[in-house]
Amino acid sequence: MPIERVAIIGAGVAGLTAALSFARHGIACDIFEEAAELMEVGAGLQISPNASRVLARLGVLAALEAVWAEPERVALVSGTSLRPLAHVPVGRFARERWGAPYGVLHRATLQKALLAAVERNPLCTLHLDAPVRDDVHQALAEMTHKDYPLIVGADGVWSNLRAAIPGAPEPDFSGNIAWRFTVARSEVPTWLATNQVTAFLGPSTHLVAYPLKEMDGFNIVAIASGLTPGQTWDAEASDAQRHMLTSQFHRWDRRIADLLKQAPNPTFWPLYEVSAGRWHNGRDKVLIGDAAHAMMPFAAQGAAMAIEDAFVLANRVAGGLSLTEALPAYETVRRERAAKVRARGLFNRFAYHARGPIRLGRDIVLSLRPPQSLAADLDWIYGFTAE
Ligand SMILES: Cc1cc2nc3c(=O)[nH]c(=O)nc-3n(C[C@H](O)[C@H](O)[C@H](O)COP(=O)(O)OP(=O)(O)OC[C@H]3O[C@@H](n4cnc5c(N)ncnc54)[C@H](O)[C@@H]3O)c2cc1C
Repeated sequence: MPIERVAIIGAGVAGLTAALSFARHGIACDIFEEAAELMEVGAGLQISPNASRVLARLGVLAALEAVWAEPERVALVSGTSLRPLAHVPVGRFARERWGAPYGVLHRATLQKALLAAVERNPLCTLHLDAPVRDDVHQALAEMTHKDYPLIVGADGVWSNLRAAIPGAPEPDFSGNIAWRFTVARSEVPTWLATNQVTAFLGPSTHLVAYPLKEMDGFNIVAIASGLTPGQTWDAEASDAQRHMLTSQFHRWDRRIADLLKQAPNPTFWPLYEVSAGRWHNGRDKVLIGDAAHAMMPFAAQGAAMAIEDAFVLANRVAGGLSLTEALPAYETVRRERAAKVRARGLFNRFAYHARGPIRLGRDIVLSLRPPQSLAADLDWIYGFTAE
């Protein structure tokens, strides 16, 4: 007998996608979000074809295509000389090769599109200002007086539901800090290409820039090794943190260093990872998205993995298995995929942040790789169909 109702904790990308994925199978969802309103938290996201394919299945893609930008390529460029090193074509090429688009947008745009679809769906109910902590069953019963056969933890890197899952993973600081900010299009320097995602690479640092069409601006993320300020997701950078940013990039091309010096209100994001540990309790609780496997953004796949997780979990649970069979089946397939993607991110970190002779070798290898061959390396990520 398939279950009739699910409780989902968290209305981020993972939670809202999960609600739509369960509703697709006729399973009702209550989504509990601790925030009183869904605000513009976060910055830009790259949505690769493996994720946009799922969003299409959920009826959300058309709303995104109307507002997002589809860059022509993802370019790797030297951060010290601004010399192009290599690129992967996306744009029309992505649609042809991987059968789905590659788009860039603000996280809030994605969340709004998912939210609109959730609000239209009679099987989904969103509860705002609804934190779920400590005794999960009691907290849920107090809010809705319902009993839930399955509780999905989509509550992010600082998940509370993990405490109810024996052997669940813990977050660890990665030793990397991201500074994120947006720049109005009118302020964007002319050397920043508007039709591509550009990853500028430098010793122990990199910086990613891409247009946000719907905000008429640019998303900038600068990543370097640094210290943690504790549990925060979106802290405005203090003077000391701003100083850390400019000192980490001071050997870069002057134009980039100046861009960072003048950054309007950068936010300071310590990057945490969630790795080894169980994602379910074998009975009625399961983790998805960053709660299960937060990863560093070197492959730009965290939200994409959350989207895939949500879709696969709903398919498994609705697919005729009992929960005691469906939860381990979900964890097995998703753990393997997330681990592979995480490993690719670690490889990118090694390559992006290379120094000295390794950096020279990297640049030679990249200059010998045609765009089509770099794209072929990504088939297993972008060509993947979550089922
Ligand atoms: C610098 C940077 C760049 C990135 N770039 C990309 C990219 O280009 N592409 C990509 O795919 N990914 C990217 N990511 C990763 C991506 O942002 C995350 O993986 C993704 O947002 C995780 O979504 P989530 O829904 O699992 O968690 P979250 O977005 O953290 O959502 C969790 C939700 O749960 C709520 N919540 C938490 N605790 C409770 C509670 N106790 N009760 C109720 N509600 C609760 C929170 O308020 C929140 O709304 C990037 C990340 C960073 C840091």
